[in-house]
Amino acid sequence: MMIDIRDLHKSYTIGQNQLNVLKGINFAAGSGEMVAIMGSSGSGKSTFLNILGMLDEADSGTYTLDGTPIKNLNETLAANYRNKFLGFIFQSFNLINYKSALDNVSMPLYYQGVKRQQRTEKAMHYLEKVGLADWAQHLPNELSGGQKQRVAIARALASDPKVLLADEPTGALDSKTSYEVMELIQNINDEGKTILCVTHELDIAHMCKRIVHLRDGLIVNDEKIKQVLANPIANV
Ligand code: ADP
Ligand code: MG
Repeated sequence: MMIDIRDLHKSYTIGQNQLNVLKGINFAAGSGEMVAIMGSSGSGKSTFLNILGMLDEADSGTYTLDGTPIKNLNETLAANYRNKFLGFIFQSFNLINYKSALDNVSMPLYYQGVKRQQRTEKAMHYLEKVGLADWAQHLPNELSGGQKQRVAIARALASDPKVLLADEPTGALDSKTSYEVMELIQNINDEGKTILCVTHELDIAHMCKRIVHLRDGLIVNDEKIKQVLANPIANV
């Protein structure tokens, strides 16, 4: 299994109160799966994804990522695993505003110690892959929402992660642009990457291959579906 989660619990303490967000999640995903995580606002989707992404830690339960138990890792080791295994895409893109598209994409490689020339080559390669080679020197505020998300996707891919975690990647985009971004994510999945995609939009969820539904801190439904292709022409 690429991802194996057993009896995962997570709560937040706010003043005197304890909010139990995840109450015993069991979940496994194999290599190459594309899973939508659905649930109403506040149902714990981001909390779950952040734990999967090692941005947050569970209170109890086990998490195994590509055979490696994720527990009590020191910061350096955790950061290494994060860089090696995981790529992130967020609703709000999280690009650095004063850096070009190219520099945004090559940034994670810098932190991994990749030399400048190789960084630039790799970043260019991934910008080409998302169709933005001509926009390499532009700043984020010169790009449309869809283009910004493509830069973010290129950045997520730059370190060749095994798993791509997307938290409402189309949440800030109109539906045409959303579908274009989903088409790109589907292509990335076709190349073998494991993808988990949080969404509360059913049409977006149906572009994945499996839908997991969170409610009241538990997975209440988990089923494989027939994937709808985001490019309507390809569905004919
Ligand atoms: P979703 O992504 O499904 O909308 P979240 O995982 O963001 O849900 O949040 C689940 C619940 O946990 C919400 O009630 C939220 O307010 C609460 N929550 C999330 N993060 C924190 C935090 N750091 N501290 C306290 N409460 C939090
Ligand atoms: Mg959320």
